[in-house]
This record gives sequence, C-alpha cells and structure tokens, in this order.
Amino acid sequence: MAASDPTGIVTAKAGASAAVSIENAEGGMSLKDALNGTEPDSDNIFLAAQRGDLQVVRELIESGKAKATDRDEQNITPLHWAAINAQIATCKYLLEQGAEVDAVGGDLVATPMQWAARNGYVYVIQLLIAHNADPTISDSQGFNTLHLVTHSSSVMALLYLLHQPIAIDSQDSVGHTSLMWAAYQGDVLSVELLLKHGASVHARDDQGMTPLHWAVVRGNKTCIRKIVEAGADMNARDNAGKTARDMAVELKAIGAYRRALEEGGMGEDGGRKGKPFNDRNTRFAILILPAIFLYMIFTTLSILPWYTGVPLAGAEFFGMHHIVTRVLLNHKSYTDNVTQSPYFSGIITGSLVWVGFCWFTRLVHNTEGYAFTHLAFAISFLLCAYNFFRAITLDPGTCPKPANDAELKDIIEELASTGRLNGSTFCIYCVARKPLRAKHCRVCDRCVGRFDHHCPWVWNCVGVNNHRQFICFVLTLVIGIGLFDYLTYAYFSSVLPPMPDDPLGNSTMIADTMSAVATMALSEGDMPTTPPAPPTISSSCFLPAPICAATAYDPFLFVVAAWASLQLSWTFVLVASQLWQIARQMTTLEVSNLGRFGYMGGRGGTSLSGQQGHTHNAGHEGHEHTHSHKHGAGGCWGFILNILGLDRFTKGKAGEGLARASTAANPFDLGIIGNCKDFWTTGHELGVEYDRLYDVPVEGFRATRERRLAEQRERGEEYGARRKGKGLLMGLGIGRSNAGYQPIRMDDQV
Ligand SMILES: [Zn+2]
Ligand SMILES: [Zn+2]
Repeated sequence: MAASDPTGIVTAKAGASAAVSIENAEGGMSLKDALNGTEPDSDNIFLAAQRGDLQVVRELIESGKAKATDRDEQNITPLHWAAINAQIATCKYLLEQGAEVDAVGGDLVATPMQWAARNGYVYVIQLLIAHNADPTISDSQGFNTLHLVTHSSSVMALLYLLHQPIAIDSQDSVGHTSLMWAAYQGDVLSVELLLKHGASVHARDDQGMTPLHWAVVRGNKTCIRKIVEAGADMNARDNAGKTARDMAVELKAIGAYRRALEEGGMGEDGGRKGKPFNDRNTRFAILILPAIFLYMIFTTLSILPWYTGVPLAGAEFFGMHHIVTRVLLNHKSYTDNVTQSPYFSGIITGSLVWVGFCWFTRLVHNTEGYAFTHLAFAISFLLCAYNFFRAITLDPGTCPKPANDAELKDIIEELASTGRLNGSTFCIYCVARKPLRAKHCRVCDRCVGRFDHHCPWVWNCVGVNNHRQFICFVLTLVIGIGLFDYLTYAYFSSVLPPMPDDPLGNSTMIADTMSAVATMALSEGDMPTTPPAPPTISSSCFLPAPICAATAYDPFLFVVAAWASLQLSWTFVLVASQLWQIARQMTTLEVSNLGRFGYMGGRGGTSLSGQQGHTHNAGHEGHEHTHSHKHGAGGCWGFILNILGLDRFTKGKAGEGLARASTAANPFDLGIIGNCKDFWTTGHELGVEYDRLYDVPVEGFRATRERRLAEQRERGEEYGARRKGKGLLMGLGIGRSNAGYQPIRMDDQV
C-alpha cells in the first residue's frame, strides 16, 4: 500500500527530475535540430536565447524576423530558454520587448520562473518577479515556484521566494509542503530557513505524513532535531498508523533518530532530559568546579610520590570531566560539545586562583629582595584577571538584525537586485545581512563583527569588541607566568641551601634545613598548606637533585608552577600569531580561510569586486559553509589542537593562506602602524563600524575617510571637536561613531 511505502514519493521525485531532464534533452535536441536543419542558427531566437546571445536576439527582434512572444513546437517561449540558462541580460531584453512573463509551455506546462526555480537561479527569479511573475502558479505536477526552489536546494533562492506573496505551507498535488520536501531531501539549511519563516510542522500530506515523518525517511539527524525542536508532535500517526519512530525502526534510521533527540537534549519520547540544576546554576557550578578539582589534583601530586600521585591525579581529572559532561550537562558521551559551557574558562579561573594563592601565601613573604618583580607580577596578575573577565562578559560585536519583516524584505530585495545575495553577504542562520569580515558563530548562534575565532577559554567569541581585551589577557598571562616562574625560582633558591658537591651529604643537610624552615613557618602560621618536610629525599626520585629538593620542600608550589609553565607553550604561540595578524590586519578566520576563499570569504584568487559581482547560483555557498566545519585534523590530537587554538596551522589550507597573505590585496591594510592603530580603536583608523560594514568603498577606505574628514572640517571646527571626544571614547570601547557610509557603485553586470 502506498501509505506504508515511504519510497512512493521517491518515485514521484524521480519522475519530476526525469521530466526536467527530458526537457533538457529536448532542449538539446532542438539545438541539434537547429544546427543540422535548414534554418541557420542565427535565425533561431530560441537558440540565441538559450545561449544568451543578446546581439542575435536583438537583431532578430529588431528586423522583425522573430518576436519575444514566439513559441517553438513545444509551446516554449524564448524567455523560458533564457531563464533556464540564467541569461539575465537576455531575459531583461525579452521582457522589455513584451515577452509574456507567465507564459506556460513545455511538457510540464510551466512558466519561465518555474524553469529558473528548478535550478535555483535567484537573480532570474528576482527579475521575473520584478516583472510581476506569479509564484503561485502550479505546473502539471502540482508544484508551484516555492516547491521547485526547495527541490533545487538553493537556499538563497528559497530565502528570496519566502519573502514573496506565496503561502509557505502550500501543498503540491499530493499534499507535500515545501518543509516536507526539504526534510525529505535532508537540506538542513532549507529546513531551518522554512521553520524560521513559520512553516508548519503539523502539516499533513495525503498519506497523513508530517514533516517529521519525511525527515525520518531521509534519516538526517539535524533535520529531525530541528523539526522536533520546532514543536513537532512526535506521536503523530500517518494514515497507516505509524509514528515517525515506527518509521525510523522500519527504515533502519533509528540510530539517527536517537542521536537527533539526544543532541537536542531530549529523551526518546521528546521530553526534556533533566539536568541536576537549572541553566544558571549549572553554568556557575561548571565555572567553580575546576578550581576545586585543580586543588585536589595539585595536593594529590604534592603529597604522594609521583608513581602513585600521577595516576591518582589523572583519575581526579577524569572525575572532574565526568561530573561536568555526564552529570552537570547530562551528555551521553564524554566527547560531546562542552564549548557552550564555561568549562574551559573554569580551568583558567582555577589556575588563576591557585597561582594567586601560592604567590600570596609563599612568595611574597620569602622573597623580599624582589620588590619590583612582585609589583610587576601583581600588576600583570590583576590585568590578566580583569581582561579575562572583560573578554568573557563583553559583547564580542554582535551584528544587528533587521528590526522587522519590511526591513528584511528590503535588504533581500536590494542584495538580489544587485546580484549579491549569497552566503558571504547574508546569514541564513540569523536571517540578517552579514557584514564584511563577520562570521556566524555556531556555538553562540550569532554573527560577530570582525570575527577572529570562538575561544572556549574565554567562553565567548573573539570579535571586534573584545579582541583587545583578549590580547591583553593572553599577553599579561604570558608575562605573569614568566614572572611567577622567576619568583618561584628565587623562592626555592633562597629557602634551599646551595647544593654541596657530595651527593651523599645533601639529603641530610637539606632535610635539616627544611625541618628548621618548616618549624619556623608553622610557628608563624602563615604557610598553612605546606606539609611538614619529609625526613629524606625519596630515593625513587628521578629528577635532578635541586628540583627534587624543591618538590620535597614545597611540592604544592612546585606543581602549581609546573602547571602554569605548561600553559606557556600554547599561549606563547597564540600571542605571537595574534600580534602578527594584527600587524597584517587579518583575523584568525581570514588566515585559515584565505587559501580557500580569498579575502572576505569570497572565492580564492578573485578580486573583491569580482566576488561581490558574481551572479549565478550563489545559494550553494551556504552549504559549502556548513561542510567546511568538518575539515581539520581528526581525532584526539585534532581536538587538542582545536582547544589550544593551534589548529589554524594544520587545518585546511592555512599554509596556502599564509603564503597568499603576502600577495593578495587586502583592502583593509593600512601598513603595520595603521593596522595596530585600527585594531586598538576597533576600526576608527579606517573609519568603519565592523558590525555594520557591508561594502568596501570604490575609492578605498583611506580616501573615503580623508574625504569625510575634509567635509567635516568644512562644516566647521565645532563639529570636529565633538568628533574628537567621541573618538577617544571609542578608543576605550565606550562610544560609537556614526557609520557615515557612502553606498558603493556596483558592477552592473547583473
Ligand atoms: Zn549569523
Ligand atoms: Zn562564539
């Protein structure tokens, strides 16, 4: 029975595409016929329209040999042929010459817009709609333009059509809505876009199946999750009495179904899986927990000999990870995404706490001769903690979203009519315009201006607004660790006696000194965590004698210093690469993507104007974008590199990107000094607001800024003075300048 056979629709779909290919084949045949036939091809307006040969079309119409309303033997107009081949200039001309915009023709009795929609040609659709084409007309298969655009998987064309007067839940001849089609095709972006525009998850087709049923037929877990999260009824039964879950079992898609619900934090019945605390308390607990566990780990390592201490410390670390991932976050596995939680910033917080504690309880009192170093350490420690806190709490530069539907429609219309509606100018997830150098962060679910990277350590994106704080944090971290290590060394050198040459004598001597110091310290009561000194140095110690003595004298301090020094490795690389990037006016994202995309996310090797002017089929870029996340070094090593932020050097085409950096033209480049100034003033030097910067001015940033300043000078001193004050505030990240942007001249190749 058809209702129980989900593949029924597959045949329907196959039928549809077969029809398209027949049409295409017919197109090919008529092309061949024309070539072989008696009619010279310069006289065939259909052929010329197909090729986009505007010259020939114009000559034919002007000489009266053909008309824009002509039809070939299959009742197809030249406009059909121009539309299906995305010949926009020809389409425009034919429409000017009176071509019938909603002419139906071909086997499927379809309009030119439906032909364009099958291929997702957003600019052709835009042109035809501007000439009053009707998107609600259905072809002989019952598909209207919205269905056909959904079939094309072209997400930008879908976006455009969703803002035209056509019902989002309109059904084809067997009751399928566009959402069902998108779910069946496994088009995550289309599903998301349709849901954001209010597509119904409760719609039913003629077999009683809902969009959730269709998502299960495909078995794409993200589609399943999105539809369930949008409030789909998981117990809805089709006409054969099957729920989506029944269907998943039958089609062996139950694994994807379970994972989809798990990832959405739901049980198999769709109910929310409980966490022990509410969201706020969970976050707080995760932020605090690493500090406690780090104390346990440091203590374990300090009181036990290394051969038992190290495994036990490892077990404690695992315990912490277990509590965070499996208990507090209630994830199913240990490797599930934890970047949405403040886990890593908790580790930084804990490390800061114990470094500060050691400094305050030990180093300050015992290394009095190092007043200047102590001052420097205290300053860098406070700056580090403050900037860490600021990097976490500041908004990284979230890009604005349109205030209402009318504004959104205007944006889409403007981008489409200038041939720039694509993944680098428009964010499908935010349904908002995407500024240059911005990126959508999947963890935070927002677009961030001058996006650098999402940093789990600061539990935030690093973007235009908190990049300075991030740099200050990492810089003071490196300096602070260096000073801490220096003071620790000074401390151990002062409390431990110099090593005598006689290896047999040293243990007793050190032990004596240590007991004396320990007794003294205990009597003073200011070293509460220092355990009594062991009588002798363990014979199992494999470390050089001075280090062994240090670990024996104050193991807690030693372990904390070792842990801190471990962080030097990656922070040092991070600081170096960040400073290099700032001097080059590049973000981490641009460095890692330059090899693939060129500047500003366009295609590599093309100029910026070329990227902005490209016309066809840009909708697929969104898909490319989602897949790109899956690249990069795999496995555990990849995970570690990713956490440390070092993966940019290994993944994708970073090497090529770095090589290209020296040759590709960067319109934002102001030279090293200018770039650093621009960084520090969050775009003031260039005169831009990165969270709403959409175009590169034709004359360049510098010229635009100078012209604007000159204009302001002409308008009077008073205004300039006010601007100055504002600029200072902006330098501190408090004020905001007006954008003052001139619309740019577009290439009129659309
Ligand atoms: Zn976005
Ligand atoms: Zn983020």
